[in-house]
Amino acid sequence: MNERSIPSGSYAVLGLGSSGEAVCRFLAKRIGAGVDRVVAYDAADTPELRERAKGLAELGVECVLGADAVTAPAKIVVASPGVRPDSALMQSALSTAAEVISEIELAYRASRSPWVAITGTNGKTTTTALVGHLLDCAGVACEVVGNIGRPAISVVEDAGPATVLVAEVSSFQLKSSFMFRPRVSVLLNITPDHIDYHGSFEAYAADKARIFAQQGPGDTAVIDVDDEGSAVYAPVAEGAGVSVVRVSARQPWAPGAYLRDGLLVVDLGQGPVELVPRDELRIKGSHNVSNALAAAAAALAAGADPAGVREGLRTFEPLPHRLEPVGVVDGVEYFNDSKATNPDSVLKALTAFDDRPLVLLLGGRNKGSSFVPVAEAASQRTKAVVVFGEAADEIAAAFDGFDGFRLLRAPGLAGAFEAARSVAEPGDAVLLSPGCASFDEFMGYDHRGSEFRRMVQDAGRSR
Ligand code: ADP
Repeated sequence: MNERSIPSGSYAVLGLGSSGEAVCRFLAKRIGAGVDRVVAYDAADTPELRERAKGLAELGVECVLGADAVTAPAKIVVASPGVRPDSALMQSALSTAAEVISEIELAYRASRSPWVAITGTNGKTTTTALVGHLLDCAGVACEVVGNIGRPAISVVEDAGPATVLVAEVSSFQLKSSFMFRPRVSVLLNITPDHIDYHGSFEAYAADKARIFAQQGPGDTAVIDVDDEGSAVYAPVAEGAGVSVVRVSARQPWAPGAYLRDGLLVVDLGQGPVELVPRDELRIKGSHNVSNALAAAAAALAAGADPAGVREGLRTFEPLPHRLEPVGVVDGVEYFNDSKATNPDSVLKALTAFDDRPLVLLLGGRNKGSSFVPVAEAASQRTKAVVVFGEAADEIAAAFDGFDGFRLLRAPGLAGAFEAARSVAEPGDAVLLSPGCASFDEFMGYDHRGSEFRRMVQDAGRSR
């Protein structure tokens, strides 16, 4: 039985990025069949967008570039995550629309598939990719959508009712999702982030919790209860009749996903299933144990068999820019964790190296965070810290009063890499886990991470 259907009427699509474009293509096929008119808007006006608009115009989608207001009345607005709620475009759309929905909501309403949805402040992409890998290894048909896969809306038409859609969903998307009911939801953690967008921590947390809003009996919620921000939602989901699987690396739960003597164990309520020793995971650090527990529980709840999950846990490789090993030069191993753009991520990364001597590269553009907790942890854990970029002085100041390590400075990443090379000795690890945004020097974290990888490879070649 399928009660889901997309709303009929005229649409405004806000934002012409890849998901906005996919939404337009999906809606274009339905013009005259429930969809009256589709007008897409983007505040920018670039040659690339013009090209995209030309292609869409051929399909019957009108495009307005350089837009600061909606020019045609629309009943339904599909907003891209990048369009801020307080932007002129969104405000003008709100004044005409009956509904503002996310691309995920539209995709859900158009789909016949069961969904596994993953949210949290940190670890979404890793956990989403891992769930997809575990399902693949277990032979369960699935498609990973969202940030790392194709936009969900471009997959739903081809995915049959037996294909599980595994989606990374952000709080931006959940904010405008109303019917979205994943068969399995995963909430990893809620720590302060994006408060400028959501207004307050409470509002941000409430948006994340919308992942369970439509769930009920027959559905599963996997919730990391080691994280205070997400733990409070376990009883809330239970109250709605959802089967809650509590994830904890600290204590066992039934139903739950936990560590027993270093072994990952999942109990969905029918008794414990032993999976693999944590040492066999290729993704390192305590945070990745939590991610692996959550992903294993979600995959089992979505129909994977334990043998497939075991194989998948053993074979999953770190994603690029997330504690990614990028080479060994002169006996020193280099790791690219450029995706660590806040201090909390750096603290997690520091747990991934046991007691191996470590040189840490920190810096970039600070997003307003305190580096004192990082300084405290790093001073106990590293032999040297290199601070670089716009935030170098500020980070260095946070290290005042801590000792037992060397503090070096460099203007940018290239200098930081050279400084790290000069102090690292065979057997050491050099970790780029900057704890900052990259925009003072790079186009994004992936650009920064790729540059770092290249520096390591060049250094290896010039030996
Ligand atoms: P997201 O998609 O939510 O940004 P990623 O999987 O890309 O998450 O990981 C981003 C960074 O967040 C990683 O480099 C790591 O430092 C940190 N991280 C990953 N998983 C967790 C977790 N469960 N708890 C806290 N931090 C994490």
